[in-house]
Amino acid sequence: MLYRFSKGISSTSIKIWICSLFLVSFSHQPPKSKPWGFVGHKKINELAVYTLPPEMIAFYKANMDYIIENSVLPDKRRYIVKEEGPKHYIDLDHYQNDSLDFQEWIPKSWKKASEIYGRDSLFAYGVLPWNIQWMLKKLQDAFERGDGPMILKYSAEIGHYVSDAHVPLHTTENYNGQLTNQHGIHGLWESRLVELYASDYDFFVGKAFILEEPLEQTWEIIFKSHSFLPIVFELEAKITDSLGLSNKYAFEKRGNQIVQVYSSRFSEIYHASMENMVQNRMRDAVLMVGSFWFTAWVNAGQPDLKGLMGKYPKGKLETIDSLKTYDSKVIPNQREHEH
Ligand SMILES: [Zn+2]
Repeated sequence: MLYRFSKGISSTSIKIWICSLFLVSFSHQPPKSKPWGFVGHKKINELAVYTLPPEMIAFYKANMDYIIENSVLPDKRRYIVKEEGPKHYIDLDHYQNDSLDFQEWIPKSWKKASEIYGRDSLFAYGVLPWNIQWMLKKLQDAFERGDGPMILKYSAEIGHYVSDAHVPLHTTENYNGQLTNQHGIHGLWESRLVELYASDYDFFVGKAFILEEPLEQTWEIIFKSHSFLPIVFELEAKITDSLGLSNKYAFEKRGNQIVQVYSSRFSEIYHASMENMVQNRMRDAVLMVGSFWFTAWVNAGQPDLKGLMGKYPKGKLETIDSLKTYDSKVIPNQREHEH
């Protein structure tokens, strides 16, 4: 089938989600998120495969292990490539202006934004929306070359970034509640709740669609994520007040370690009070990841993927050594970021 852009395709139903398991230390230090779970990213990449059209799905299914395992590669890369961190978030509040709606005036293209703010400043507050476009282009180029390994690598990785864009806490300077005495909320929202409840979510999301305006549609995802932040913070504070700190945390055994986690009771009330927010953002992420893959393939001229089947190693993560060869420019004044 020849797929074409169609005005009739619903392109704006975009929503959230994601990743690691959240742990806090025994002391009353601010909780730290430890990205060793990655449950959300893996699940989203896996489920996105099932949104693909017949011409694509066999190739992705044949390489499912790789697509799942490498969904977390960009997070691993954050520790050794300085420019990697800002590709996972954008601090939209940095661009807030009391008299104007930033959704209207924020420069959406990289060209315009970098002319106004400069490259280093953009990297300082996160480049997630633009990074998704860079990844889309790389994926399209890989399809055009018929380069199987790179198709898989960029598919897995764009899946990660698109998923990150669906998480409200990837769009704010207060990304871990550190500015409002809610330290740990990042891992609570995207990891702890996923760990506890995602197995009950309804992930029937329909078929991938062609993104007519990938940049615009990326911004829509990010604005929507950002719009949930007041609820995310307010409910956490309210439930902390009503339950009290002693009921907020509990201890769990993880391997040989006893770790402090958000208690089941706290998590349950918080999750329920947000209604279906976490599920909906995760569902939308699944659909959008598939749609970015589909769009790259269509833009590349819908190459036949049959010849690429069964040729590539499965489940092989890049080694730290190979990651060290990534081109990495040090960005001045880059701050710590826990995404
Ligand atoms: Zn990330």
